[in-house]
Amino acid sequence: MPEASIASAREILTGLHEVMASRIGPQAKLNKVVKIVAEAMVSEVCSIYLLRDGVLELYATVGLNQSAVHVTKLANGEGLVGTIAKNVEVLNLAEAASHPEFAYRPETGEETFHSFAGVPIIRQERAVGVLAVQHAEPRAYDDLEIEALQTVAMVLSELIANAGLIDRRAKAGEADREAGMARIKGLKLVVGMARGTAVYHQPRILIEHTVAEDIEAERHRVYSAFRKMREQIDTMTTQAEFGTAGEHYEVLETYKMFAYDEGWSRRINESIDQGLTAEAAIERVRQRMKRRMAEIDDPLLAERMHDLDDLSNRLLRIVSGQLGTAAQAGLPHDAILIARNLGPAELLEYDRRKLKGVILQEGSLTAHVIIVARAMGVPVIGRVADARQAISEGDTVLIDGDEAVAFVRPTPAIEEAFNAKLEAGQKRRAAFAALRDVPPVTSDGTRITVMVNAGLRDDAAALGAVGADGIGLFRTEFQFLVSATLPRRESQQRLYRSVLDAADGKPVVFRTVDVGGDKQLPYLHGLEEGEENPALGWRALRLALDRSTLMRAQSRALLEAAAGRELHVMFPMISEPWEFDEAKRLVEEQRAWLAARGKKLPTAIRYGAMMEVPALAEALDILLPKIDFLSIGTNDLTQFLFAADRSNPKLAERYDWLSPAILRFLRRIVRACDEAEVAVGVCGEMGGRTLECMALIGIGLRRFSITPVAVGPIKAMIRSLNLAAATELMERMLERPPDNMRATLAEWAAKQNVSLS
Ligand code: PEP
Ligand code: MG
Repeated sequence: MPEASIASAREILTGLHEVMASRIGPQAKLNKVVKIVAEAMVSEVCSIYLLRDGVLELYATVGLNQSAVHVTKLANGEGLVGTIAKNVEVLNLAEAASHPEFAYRPETGEETFHSFAGVPIIRQERAVGVLAVQHAEPRAYDDLEIEALQTVAMVLSELIANAGLIDRRAKAGEADREAGMARIKGLKLVVGMARGTAVYHQPRILIEHTVAEDIEAERHRVYSAFRKMREQIDTMTTQAEFGTAGEHYEVLETYKMFAYDEGWSRRINESIDQGLTAEAAIERVRQRMKRRMAEIDDPLLAERMHDLDDLSNRLLRIVSGQLGTAAQAGLPHDAILIARNLGPAELLEYDRRKLKGVILQEGSLTAHVIIVARAMGVPVIGRVADARQAISEGDTVLIDGDEAVAFVRPTPAIEEAFNAKLEAGQKRRAAFAALRDVPPVTSDGTRITVMVNAGLRDDAAALGAVGADGIGLFRTEFQFLVSATLPRRESQQRLYRSVLDAADGKPVVFRTVDVGGDKQLPYLHGLEEGEENPALGWRALRLALDRSTLMRAQSRALLEAAAGRELHVMFPMISEPWEFDEAKRLVEEQRAWLAARGKKLPTAIRYGAMMEVPALAEALDILLPKIDFLSIGTNDLTQFLFAADRSNPKLAERYDWLSPAILRFLRRIVRACDEAEVAVGVCGEMGGRTLECMALIGIGLRRFSITPVAVGPIKAMIRSLNLAAATELMERMLERPPDNMRATLAEWAAKQNVSLS
């Protein structure tokens, strides 16, 4: 930027600074601002319109008739000024009257002016007013002039906020209605319906001060913030699974590119030189880049813009010291959380009673955060890339998780339809609830075992509520994820005992800690060293065997909690049979220790293994004689079979569980277990889906552990299914697989009246 323009922008800001600091009233301040701008830009007209009760009112002007002040009003979207506010965009016109939206207002006397430039006055991404200049002669304004106007608009947003001139309706989110409803479609991750208020996981920073007192100090603040941000990004890139935020590799690469972009920091410094604070300068540059990119119609660039937006926000948070997530900031009672991605621990930080739904820019079906959300009963829609563009904080959002659709700022008609669907859903749930005490028996008389997956203390209550046969998978690591430090043996024991108490005699299968991969524990030393392939890395039993103190403590807690009762314990991610032996040895060692001290022991211990690593399927003849039961974890098993990361949003929809490869693989395992007379079940997400579960029954599975909300629909499916027919069907399907297994199975189910809701 040439020296001269920096000086003039600085001059304007110096003038504004004096106005802001003066003790005159808001109207007098606005009158002075228009004068300063008109003089600096040598324009015949400068005007400020502010949004009042949803209408843009001329608040101050030089050049237009003074009698029009507080008289001229334009609806949001009406005329040039209304268009600027509605679209939150800049207009730069050599001939204003030839613009299709031009609306002539005779009281202003503006007919003598040809050229027009207007910029929105923005507060939290919404226009709360418009600043415009006009010249008599037809001329286009250059970039520097537009940018000077935007800088003034930024300061004006502070001025009008301080003066209490922000429109009440804009504050209450009512102006949203004028912004119109948006319908967004994503990927179905957790079903269910929710209504609430949008909250950003990483809240937007509200800029309080725009004009710098001390330019050197502001420069220094930005310098330190950049350094800190670069450090953060470097750490994230080297961390396994990219730290708690779970950001995706490509995103981080882009982050890195922007973070080290000298042009970006230079432009921010130039804005500071003009007299803006660090926060205002970052925001100014963000708006400018946004405008530039909006002019280029390229979807790839638009995606980069989201990244830059995220990064600008990160820089703002660092510079302003507002570092917490919305979980710490206090939620409204009906929050719909908007995030790029979340780690399971981050989600668990939120108050379950207030969190109604989640919309992610990324996300995939079997990522642990989704499993946690499912356990919490929170509907989630994923892969809404432009979520932060389409949804503003404070917007009303309706989530229809069943259709993976969200309505932002819904119209009354949509609200009505949504409520009707909600009611129908409640009726359906009530019908499923009626199945609570009805056993899941196929129409030809085979009893199927339906248990639930759990992991949180309150989950055990779901057992009775849905009428399941027990807890088939208790993910003990959830307690580790919600804790800031390693949970002590006593607190582990207390949790296990309360779960056994709540299960009231029904079996509970405790899975020993399964951390690592996308379940990171910041306090567990060793995990923080980055791994290139965390899913294939030092995780689950591999880690637990190496850290045997952790495993010993957990074993003791389990044995003590189950004293006088039967204990079911299961080990995750077994790749070779010796790992099972070793894990069992550790538990037995603790049993002996307790026995030697005359402590009360469990009446029996049943040992199980998880089948998640394909290699284990080739060693079943060695493993099966050692174990009491096998539980197939289809989430991990399928990611390894397809070599497709379960957390990678790009692969979320690529492979289908209903594929010959998966089903044939599972059938082999089931046959081996049947032959060895070892109980076998499925505890991955696959078993909780009606069509998938139907296919699994058809290949011989009789035990399932599923998410509690799926128990009703799965029971209904089982009760409407003829086992003999399903078995015959799957034989046929796997003999000569159809092109589209899913469609063929769904068609068959429809003909047979199998309930798939
Ligand atoms: C699985 O992998 O299928 C499983 C049930 O375990 P988790 O989802 O906890 O990895
Ligand atoms: Mg697993």
